[in-house]
Amino acid sequence: MSKSALTLARARSTCEYDGMSSDTDTQVTGDGTITSQTTGDDRIRRIAPDVAFKDVMNGDSRWEIPIHDHGFVALVDSMPRLVPEGQTADSAIVQAARVSYGAGTKKVNEDRGLIRYLLRHRHTTPLEMVEFKFHIAMPIFVARQWIRHRTANVNEYSARYSIMPDRFYRPSIENVRKQSTTNRQGGDEPIEVGTAEEFLKLLGDSEALYSRYLDLTEKGVAREIARAALPVSVFTEWYWKCDLHNILHFLSLRMDKHAQIEIRDYATAMYDLIKGIVPITCEAFEDYRLNAMHLTSLEIDAIRNGTPLDTTNKREIAEWEAKQAELGLG
Ligand SMILES: Cc1cc2nc3c(=O)[nH]c(=O)nc-3n(C[C@H](O)[C@H](O)[C@H](O)COP(=O)(O)OP(=O)(O)OC[C@H]3O[C@@H](n4cnc5c(N)ncnc54)[C@H](O)[C@@H]3O)c2cc1C
Repeated sequence: MSKSALTLARARSTCEYDGMSSDTDTQVTGDGTITSQTTGDDRIRRIAPDVAFKDVMNGDSRWEIPIHDHGFVALVDSMPRLVPEGQTADSAIVQAARVSYGAGTKKVNEDRGLIRYLLRHRHTTPLEMVEFKFHIAMPIFVARQWIRHRTANVNEYSARYSIMPDRFYRPSIENVRKQSTTNRQGGDEPIEVGTAEEFLKLLGDSEALYSRYLDLTEKGVAREIARAALPVSVFTEWYWKCDLHNILHFLSLRMDKHAQIEIRDYATAMYDLIKGIVPITCEAFEDYRLNAMHLTSLEIDAIRNGTPLDTTNKREIAEWEAKQAELGLG
């Protein structure tokens, strides 16, 4: 049996020891281990699958993408984990949608069409039926942006219990960005090399605090207070579990060009890990969210009437100009 062909078989067996008949679930895993479990509860009606199931992660324990020097995003579990052979985890969304739409799905009874309809019309609850669990290592300043996404379940490394690892984020010299003059929150092109080098030296100096942190914890300073001396470039880790609807919301904000490049790198890796598992949803996400554009009623009027945007708000005008450029208008 191939590693990816995790099969769930049902066996009605006779117990060798006492000759009693019992219902047994038998699971055959990739390494050939056979485990069986007697339910012992005859109220439970156990329905065998009518088709073979496959593991969406091909029997692997994790799929990991390294980020920068010390970070990673690893997919460690998925719900559904097992899907009917020939299908993807998109099938869990279709299954949930069909229960709510019932006969109404007759018009949109093709799976891809149904999922695209759900995404277009923001019918979001069926997307919550799929969940992914990740293990992530990232610098604290990235984690601070990430934790604002409140709908995930998170368990973070505790710097009260454990010593912080000696790992710090350092951008490449080209990634030491100049403060943007148009966007106060961001940086854009690389700053001149001399200044970039000076900044990297400053980061090196802050990393040098690590050995003093370690010394003082060895002298008895509590880890919970000693960590206050470390910079936000130090790495933390967490398990992060979230449903697909909220993951797509996270990705639409954090893969966007307005998000800081460091968290964007993580978000893009997360997307790369899941898109083969829910390809139909991801295709619709790209078409209707990621690569789509929202137009305000002022912008629609400007297109309709061929007039300038009816506002004096400089930021709104700049945003409209950027959209026009993307659309090849004006
Ligand atoms: C480019 C960028 C710049 C940002 N800059 C700043 C900044 O300068 N300062 C700052 O503080 N933050 C900033 N943020 C964070 C931002 O304001 C949001 O907190 C973050 O993006 C999470 O968005 P969310 O609340 O929609 O997501 P989630 O927390 O994942 O929530 C998803 C959705 O669930 C609903 N929801 C969740 N919790 C609640 C609740 N308690 N009550 C009501 N509805 C809820 C909302 O509909 C929400 O949209 C920035 C984010 C981005 C992407």
